[in-house]
Amino acid sequence: MPKKLVYYFGGKKADGTAAMKPLLGGKGANLAEMVNLKLPVPPGFTITTEVCIHYYKHNRTFPKELKKQVADSLKKIEKQIGAKFGDKQNPLLVSVRSGARASMPGMMDTILNLGLNDETVPGLIAKSGNERFVYDSYRRFVQMYGDVVLDLKPQNKDERDPFEIILENKKKSRGVKMDTDLTASDLKELVAEFKAEIFNKLGKTFPEDPMEQLWGSIGAVFGSWMNERAIVYRRLNDIPESWGTAVNIQSMVFGNMGESSGTGVAFTRDPASGENIFYGEYLMNAQGEDVVAGIRTPLPISTLNEQNPVIYGQLEAVRRNLEKHYKDMMDIEFTIQDGTLYILQCRVGKRTGISAVRIAVEMVTEKLIGEREALSRIEPDQLNQLLRPVFDTKEKDEAIKQGRLLAKGLNAGPGAATGKIYFNATDCEDAAARGEKVMLVRSETSPEDIKGMNVAEGILTARGGMTSHAALVARQMGKVCVAGCGVLEMDYSARTMSVETLKGLVTLNEGDWLSIDGSTGEVIEGKIQTKDSEIIQVLLEKSLNPADSAMFAIYEKVMSWSDKFRRLKVRTNADQPDQCRNAVAFGAEGIGLCRTEHMFFGGDRIDAVREMILADNVEERKVALDKLFPFQRDDFAGIFRAMGDRHVTIRTLDPPLHEFLPHTEQDQRELAEKVGKPFMDIKNKVDSLHEFNPMMGHRGCRLGIVFPEITAMQAKAIFSAAALVKKEGVNVHPEVMIPLVGNYLELRNQVKVVRNIADQVIKDEGVAFEYSTGTMIEIPRAAITADEIAGEADFFSFGTNDLTQMTFGLSRDDAGKFLPYYISHDILPCDPFVTIDSGVATLVKMAVEKGRSVKPKLKIGICGEHGGDPQTIHFCHNAGLDYVSCSPFRLPIARLAAAQAALKDSKAAPKKKSAKSVSKTKKKTAKKKKK
Ligand code: PEP
Ligand code: MG
Repeated sequence: MPKKLVYYFGGKKADGTAAMKPLLGGKGANLAEMVNLKLPVPPGFTITTEVCIHYYKHNRTFPKELKKQVADSLKKIEKQIGAKFGDKQNPLLVSVRSGARASMPGMMDTILNLGLNDETVPGLIAKSGNERFVYDSYRRFVQMYGDVVLDLKPQNKDERDPFEIILENKKKSRGVKMDTDLTASDLKELVAEFKAEIFNKLGKTFPEDPMEQLWGSIGAVFGSWMNERAIVYRRLNDIPESWGTAVNIQSMVFGNMGESSGTGVAFTRDPASGENIFYGEYLMNAQGEDVVAGIRTPLPISTLNEQNPVIYGQLEAVRRNLEKHYKDMMDIEFTIQDGTLYILQCRVGKRTGISAVRIAVEMVTEKLIGEREALSRIEPDQLNQLLRPVFDTKEKDEAIKQGRLLAKGLNAGPGAATGKIYFNATDCEDAAARGEKVMLVRSETSPEDIKGMNVAEGILTARGGMTSHAALVARQMGKVCVAGCGVLEMDYSARTMSVETLKGLVTLNEGDWLSIDGSTGEVIEGKIQTKDSEIIQVLLEKSLNPADSAMFAIYEKVMSWSDKFRRLKVRTNADQPDQCRNAVAFGAEGIGLCRTEHMFFGGDRIDAVREMILADNVEERKVALDKLFPFQRDDFAGIFRAMGDRHVTIRTLDPPLHEFLPHTEQDQRELAEKVGKPFMDIKNKVDSLHEFNPMMGHRGCRLGIVFPEITAMQAKAIFSAAALVKKEGVNVHPEVMIPLVGNYLELRNQVKVVRNIADQVIKDEGVAFEYSTGTMIEIPRAAITADEIAGEADFFSFGTNDLTQMTFGLSRDDAGKFLPYYISHDILPCDPFVTIDSGVATLVKMAVEKGRSVKPKLKIGICGEHGGDPQTIHFCHNAGLDYVSCSPFRLPIARLAAAQAALKDSKAAPKKKSAKSVSKTKKKTAKKKKK
């Protein structure tokens, strides 16, 4: 173990700095930084993450040097504060909190008011002159200690905290509603009742020795690194277990010392909308946990300006100071103790996607950060939120007119959501697994609810403010959320939610539809259609003037900066002209994959397709293909028109033929009648096409090789359409792509068919256009022999869906049965059909190198689903690919991810005017750079 296990902060200078997050955790590092910035931080010390790692490596024990270092630091606090730990007259109280490198709000444990016992209580009463405050602190401490260290907290969704039940009964017996209405003697009784509860439940007494309390708490907080909710949170947020958490021990300051004390949480800008206003909430005469846990609904920070302008002014100064220093939106926890302000924590604030984008763009305008930094601040997937639906205004107005507006809560997570009500996380998960749209409705959420929140369309809570657990986590997940809707009455056991409205009492049951507007806080009974976002209205529907949408202006900036820095081109996977138009609006620079078979089910085409498959000989097949030809030609012409002079990659027929055939007897009889063949012939043909493993059967280029007339028809349709559209004045660039090639002779065979047709069409139509022929690399053998295959190809496009399936020997259609298990048991780090797997990535790199060893300028892209995944896009940049291709709605994400990859690639220069010269230099540099 390294010598220094404990880092002190307090006084004028701290041992640590903000740069030491891996060792001190986010909280510890920022506390140190704030001390260095001379902000009013109560003194304390951080036990490093290395101790946590040691703790788990050594059977939950501490390094032997730790005891002394903790004792020494405790002495320093005592000296600075002028109080003594465990002292009867003048006791020092501390908090013990977790603090990992990445923030994990509410997932780990905290103990406050540590150091209180029956002996120190009188001293603190004498010192503070406030008996009620002391007993309030004491009862909170015993409760937290019981829950966290002695593990008495509820074990399942229907259980309630035993201490909360006692507290509730006490309030009832005293005829009061609020905790604050309980007197000092009520609270004193509660302490005794809480201790008795501990003894009854565990058969042991609550520890009175402050040192025993301290070490119990340190162990519990380190132990909470491995509790279930922390594990789930880490998995959802890609936080490695190996990081461990630090533990912060800090002298207590009290927000519950009467009306000149209080506590709050503030953000230097609005975390929901991104607006540059001071945003936050506070409660007078309360402790921080009340705000975060959502037990009481706090007041907006602007009210503090009226209540106590001096403190508000100091907070404003802290806000300015922190933004100037960190150059980011910060989240601050503060406490006012008897009129003095203390800052307990600061960290980079969590924000919605909308807020992230707005803050990044506005901070560039304010010259706080540059464009590159702004781009790095936005998670590509957060752009999804800009494209998120809002309610159809007409339907919503109608619903309100009908009196379906039930209540209004806090607009904690923007967007519109509609779903069926479920009252706990497990039921939400089950309903979502059945394919239902669900709405999680809770009195207040706790970290245990995270799985339910994950699957819900929206989250509604009766209690808690904008910084409650529900609000924080919903924003981070990009979920729609209305919090603190106090008029709602939940009955978990009856599975109902009731609210008093103008119409009278409305009661909704589990499974009833409910809609929430996370931008206004409205809660509306029933289902309301949702409508596209402003970006969609401007770009796709063209129903909104771009000049009238501030959000669109921000989106445009992010996209234009992304385009300035990225090297990778972005294409789209689209099969229809309308999809192509959407894709162009989202910035598509071409089509990376047009799956021709997707057109086969439209209109009457399927009959011709079936006729083609059922043909007994070439002649019959050609007759059917002739019927199919005009459909295909017109489809391709529509695509060429939509894409203009952009390159369009069209893939020849890929799936196994039986996918197009009728499988029920009735459908087979109908088809027999249509094509004029006996039913048994059709049945026998369908049976003969049955394959044990169709994904590895007669599909892809194997079809075109055995039935070259299919490839010929498709090539003729592609090139005839190209000739037609070229004559209309569009500079078309068709690229014909052969699927499932594993051997260069397969490709040579198909390219010959395609090129012969191209020459013929160009001659017959009397019009010239550029075209190229290439292949998908989606079979491991193709990657391994990419040098041979490159000899036959103008381009490669990685079909990583099949390449993943074939590399793993894992059927992409059946993997759902066990992949989730693999992922939850850490056998795989993530779904390899979403983010490229390292083994598949090795094959891709090899194929790029081998292909370019034969043709240095070989154009290479990716068109599997991975082409829209930010992590995979980084890999593609580094592997030297020319483009990624993804679904139209993921294009903004791909553009940003491609820019981030280029910016991380330290040697890659920003894109200059000439695209050609850039791609050359970048190819060179990208090759050198590893992932
Ligand atoms: C692929 O395999 O990655 C691919 C794009 O083709 P498909 O998904 O159509 O098999
Ligand atoms: Mg494929």
